[in-house]
Amino acid sequence: MAKDHYNTLGISKDASSDDIKAAYKKLAKKYHPDVSKEDGAEKKFKEVLEAYNTLRDPQKRQNYDRFGDAAQRFGGFGDFSGAGFQRADFDFGDIFSDFAFGGGGMGDLFRGAFGSGRRRGPQQGESIRFDLGISFEEAIFGIEKKFTIERMEECDSCKGSGAEKGTEKVKCNVCHGTGVEEKARRFLGTTLVTRGPCSKCGGDGEIIERPCKKCSGAGRVKSKRKMKVKIPAGVNTGNHLRLQGQGNFGEKGAPSGDLFVVLFVDPHEFFKRDGTDIFSEIPVSFSEAALGIEIEVPTLRGKAKMKVPHGSQSGTIFKMKGQGVKELNSSRIGDQYVKVILKTPEKLSKEQKKLFEELGKIEKMKKDRKGIFDGLKKHFK
Ligand SMILES: [Zn+2]
Ligand SMILES: [Zn+2]
Repeated sequence: MAKDHYNTLGISKDASSDDIKAAYKKLAKKYHPDVSKEDGAEKKFKEVLEAYNTLRDPQKRQNYDRFGDAAQRFGGFGDFSGAGFQRADFDFGDIFSDFAFGGGGMGDLFRGAFGSGRRRGPQQGESIRFDLGISFEEAIFGIEKKFTIERMEECDSCKGSGAEKGTEKVKCNVCHGTGVEEKARRFLGTTLVTRGPCSKCGGDGEIIERPCKKCSGAGRVKSKRKMKVKIPAGVNTGNHLRLQGQGNFGEKGAPSGDLFVVLFVDPHEFFKRDGTDIFSEIPVSFSEAALGIEIEVPTLRGKAKMKVPHGSQSGTIFKMKGQGVKELNSSRIGDQYVKVILKTPEKLSKEQKKLFEELGKIEKMKKDRKGIFDGLKKHFK
């Protein structure tokens, strides 16, 4: 839920800029980390500062009043690219229940790596992780993707047994097929018997006399395999698909591991995404902002018309309902927020220059600026 800046400062929604300043000063003093010994003072101080920085600026305050948190999520447009890759931890939540059979969870990814118990039974195949990059649009609308993975597959020459074609495994003559070896040692006059996995067969109970030439007796070989997955609409970086049994081939009839396809979504040139909401900017000219205009803005689904009312300030945000991203496994669709950016012309034609000069003669900006200086005089003294 969004933070309530008015609540943080303890003021009402119609507080004047003097009220805001006064509330900020009081609370900043109270929670300043150098002064306050209160628990969580630093966090409180940051919240107060954030609230003040938003509400002191009339433009930011207006956006905040209209859209709350969404205005803030706009962030700097410069940090676009980071969106996808700054996450180190992945959301391994079971979002793709279609693929997630059985127990599941991250434990499976590593289970193959550790032997358990004294007697080493057949090992389950290791699970594999494959990082798949998809485009911004593919994540939003869904797509079928093909890619190639490398994994251990059953050796087709020995059918996974590890014994050369035409030969069979034989019972281990050390443990007599039990897989367990007993060793007797004399120790301080008594006989100590220790039991452990058989040193010859490694606990299997049988040995390969003539190992398969293709897999050197491992029963599995490294292979490249083409895969195809259907990615549903609304996924985001860190989401994953779990394909059961598509990991490494298990030893001696043990089940194969799973394949985890972890998704990475490319950033977009014009759109920024936060959950199901889309954020974008659109430039308007001075005269368009002053007079008001209906403009075409790019959306995920093509062009859409948006009304910029006369007198719009640079930085004003407009909401286009239902132009966002469809939520994963749901029919809910997010919104698009469009920020209007006033572009000052860098070069003027002769005619433009003349008209601007005309306009300059009747503008009252000088008077507005004087008002600021008059207001500041108090502070200079
Ligand atoms: Zn083989
Ligand atoms: Zn043995």
